Amino acid sequence: MVYDFNTKIENDHLIIGDIDANDLAKEYGTPLYVIDEEKIRDNYNKLYTAFSSKYPDLHMCYAAKANTSLAVMKVLESEGSYIDAVSPGEIYTALLAGYSPDRIVFTGNNVTTEELEYANETGVTINLDSISALERLSTIENTKGKEISFRVNPMVEAGHHEHCITGGPKSKFGIKEDEAVEVYQRAIDLGFKPIGMHSHIGSEILESEPFMLAVETMMDIAGKVHQEIGVDFKFLDFGGGFGIPYEPEEEELDLETFTSDIIALYKSKLEEYDMGSPSMYIEPGRFLVGNSEVLLTRVNTIKQSYRKFAGVDCGFNTLLRPTMYGSYHHIVVANRMNDEPVEKIDVAGNVCESGDLFARDRLMPELEEGDLLAILNAGAYAYTMASQYNSRPRPAEVMVNKEEVDVIRRRESFSDLFNGQHVPTRLLK
Ligand SMILES: *Cc1c(COP(=O)(O)O)cnc(C)c1O
Repeated sequence: MVYDFNTKIENDHLIIGDIDANDLAKEYGTPLYVIDEEKIRDNYNKLYTAFSSKYPDLHMCYAAKANTSLAVMKVLESEGSYIDAVSPGEIYTALLAGYSPDRIVFTGNNVTTEELEYANETGVTINLDSISALERLSTIENTKGKEISFRVNPMVEAGHHEHCITGGPKSKFGIKEDEAVEVYQRAIDLGFKPIGMHSHIGSEILESEPFMLAVETMMDIAGKVHQEIGVDFKFLDFGGGFGIPYEPEEEELDLETFTSDIIALYKSKLEEYDMGSPSMYIEPGRFLVGNSEVLLTRVNTIKQSYRKFAGVDCGFNTLLRPTMYGSYHHIVVANRMNDEPVEKIDVAGNVCESGDLFARDRLMPELEEGDLLAILNAGAYAYTMASQYNSRPRPAEVMVNKEEVDVIRRRESFSDLFNGQHVPTRLLK
């Protein structure tokens, strides 16, 4: 099956929820992030049901770094989600969004002792990423008997780009698999109660093999830790990385087969090592929010240079993925959805850098100045990676629920460019 992105079209226009994208652009301006609440809920329920129908003791921890808008966090909170937080700021955000500490798993990387103190005070579950973090946590008051978990590196790599591979021999994450027994023993010796194990091998995984291999490897590590030093696991956390189609030729993850295979493997490994039935945690980010949002941007310049360019009113400061990872984002013309693609064109941003391109040689309908483009699948790692580079205030984000629209992040103004800045008085003379 070739993926068609399920865009809704009425009168030749792109519809989001029940609202015409062109009306949204007129009312709120461009560039504009538009997120569809219903899609987030659908994604959550689709993934949750696929796993929990086969293993009910399942906790889905939304990987907040994909999209930290409070409204998005709130929507997932109301669905019963847990949170995967990678920084104290994300713990703080999750608490603000109404998640109780027992629903927050903190998996930091290169964390400071102060950050460990903060995580400890808030009472969230802590996944330690190094022996150093373990030793430093033990120096913090009132941590005796504390339940902890470790992130292990299962020597399996996966991901759509080198920067997104978070397991394997080159990865900076986690403790090595061959030191796991020693590290869990050290934790016990320091007075901790290890109860969990975590791994996260990479992002944008669309095939089950690498994930299956990671589950198998981690279960063997956990099994060894259980059998050799008697650690009783309350949870095993397999991280996220569930992919979504970005290119039309890409196929969706076959959830039924994927989850059946994983759960069968999980159960057989639990039995093999006599580990009881610990909770299974997964940490989807992209899968929950990636396809729920579009970035609306207007064409302001058509230029026939040595190549043909359509220049739009935002750049990689607004959506970094194409520039940072070479990622493909499908682009549709929101005011002429039924026009056939007829020519290849580069869609370029407004940042003063030559790498600022949303698409190179993309087959598109003949574009005109004033056209409204919708860059699809801009819900994950999009707004959260936006910056004010080139002194461009960040755009607004609106949430659509059928016919309702709310601004969930206001458009920044010039004054936001100077937040927190100070000019020494000696320079003011
Ligand atoms: C980023 C991250 C995730 C989510 O990855 P996705 O590819 O968005 O599903 C999960 N767990 C950890 C620890 C992460 O850092």
